[in-house]
Amino acid sequence: MDFEFSEEQKLFRRTASQFAGKEIAPLVDELEDREEFPSRLLKRMGDLGFLGIPYPERYGGSGGDVVTLCIFLEELASVSTAAAIAAVVQINGVAAPVFLFGTEDQKEKYLVPSIRGEKIGSIAITEPDAGSDTASIRTLAKREDNGYVITGTKIFCTNGGIADLFFVTAVTDRSKGSKGIGIFVAERGTQGLTVGRNIKKLGLHGLGTYEVIFEGCRVEQGSLLGDEGRGFYNLMRSVERNRIGVAAMAVGLARAAFGDALPYAKERVQFGRPIGKFQGIQFMLADMAMEIELATLMVYKAAWMDDRGLPCNKEASIAKLYASEMVNRVAYKALQIYGGYGYMMEYPLQRYFRDARVFEIFEGTSEIQRVIIGKELGL
Ligand SMILES: Cc1cc2nc3c(=O)[nH]c(=O)nc-3n(C[C@H](O)[C@H](O)[C@H](O)COP(=O)(O)OP(=O)(O)OC[C@H]3O[C@@H](n4cnc5c(N)ncnc54)[C@H](O)[C@@H]3O)c2cc1C
Repeated sequence: MDFEFSEEQKLFRRTASQFAGKEIAPLVDELEDREEFPSRLLKRMGDLGFLGIPYPERYGGSGGDVVTLCIFLEELASVSTAAAIAAVVQINGVAAPVFLFGTEDQKEKYLVPSIRGEKIGSIAITEPDAGSDTASIRTLAKREDNGYVITGTKIFCTNGGIADLFFVTAVTDRSKGSKGIGIFVAERGTQGLTVGRNIKKLGLHGLGTYEVIFEGCRVEQGSLLGDEGRGFYNLMRSVERNRIGVAAMAVGLARAAFGDALPYAKERVQFGRPIGKFQGIQFMLADMAMEIELATLMVYKAAWMDDRGLPCNKEASIAKLYASEMVNRVAYKALQIYGGYGYMMEYPLQRYFRDARVFEIFEGTSEIQRVIIGKELGL
C-alpha cells in the first residue's frame, strides 16, 4: 500500500495550484457578479492542456490519469467552485461520452475541439418533470429522413449560455422505456434550438444555468452518440468518473473554508484569548480536519481504482456522498467560526457556504447516492 502521490502528480498539483491562484483567483469577485462563466477561461484551460487530462494524446489530450484529473479539480475548486464545475462539465460531461461511445468522426468533430476549449458543450438531460429519474424524460427524438427531429424542454443546463454543442437525451422509442433513449449532439444555431432563460441560483454565481428548448429541432444521423437505445446506459457509465471528480471538488472547497477558518481562530481574540483556545472552537476545527482527510482518502481511493480499471461504482458513490455532506458541514462551521464577519458579503465564507449546497444535489443527489450504495450492497 502506498499513500504517496507520484513525483509527476505532485509537480502537476503545483502547476494546477499556480494556475488557479494566478489566473482564476483574481477573477473570483467578478465571476460572482456575472451568472456566466467566460468561455475565454475555458479556452485558456484548453490551451494549457487541463481539459484533456484523461484523454489520449492522439485526440489532443494529456494522457493523464483520473488521480491527476482529481488533483486539478480539487485545486481549482479550492479557489473557485464555479470554475471547477465549468471545467468538469467540459472534461467529464462533454468529452467523456464522445470518447467512450463516439465514432472516430464524432471524436474529430466534438472531442478534439472540446479538449482544446474551442467548442463549449452543455449537458441537457434534466427536464422540468424528470430529474433524478433520468429515464422518465419526455423529450422526443423522432426519426425522419436521414436524421432525427427533437422536441422537448430541458432545464438547469450548465454553461448553456456559452455552449456551442448541446448533448441532449431524448426518447427514440417510448415502448422500450430506458432502452429507448438516445444521446444527441445539437449545435447552437440549429433551427428549433432556443437557449432560454438563465435561471438564478443560490450559489455558483460564476456559472450560467439555462433552460434549453427544442421545437422540431432537426439533427443529422451522425449526431447520435452511440447506439440509439443505449443512451441511458451509456450515460450511467460515463457519470461514474464524474462522481469522483465532483467529490474531489468538494474536498477543494472544504480545504478553502478550513484554510480560512484555522488562521482566523488563531488570530481572533475574545475574552482575552484567541477563540481557537476555546474547546468549542477547537472541536469544530478538529472535526473539520478529520472529515477533510477522510473525504480526501476516499476520493483518491476511488480515482486509483478507476485508473486500474477496477469496478468502483460503490466507491465513486461513497466518495461523492461523503465529500458532499462533509463540505456542507465544513463550510457551515467555518462561517460559524468567523461569527458575524462570516455572514457578510465582504468575506468569502458566505460563498463557500452557498456553493457547498449544490454538492448534495447535482450529479446524483445524496439520496440517489445512498440508493446506488444500497444496490451495490445487494439491497
Ligand atoms: C447548479 C446545478 C447545475 C446543474 N447542471 C445540470 C446540467 O448541466 N445538465 C443537466 O441535465 N442537469 C443539471 N442539473 C440538474 C441536476 O442533475 C438535478 O437537479 C438532480 O439530478 C436532481 O433532480 P431534481 O432537481 O429534479 O430533483 P428530484 O429528482 O425531483 O428530487 C427531489 C428530491 O427527491 C429525492 N429523491 C428523488 N428520487 C429519490 C429516490 N429514489 N429515493 C429517495 N429520494 C429521492 C431527491 O434526492 C431530492 O431530495 C443541475 C442542477 C443544479 C442544481
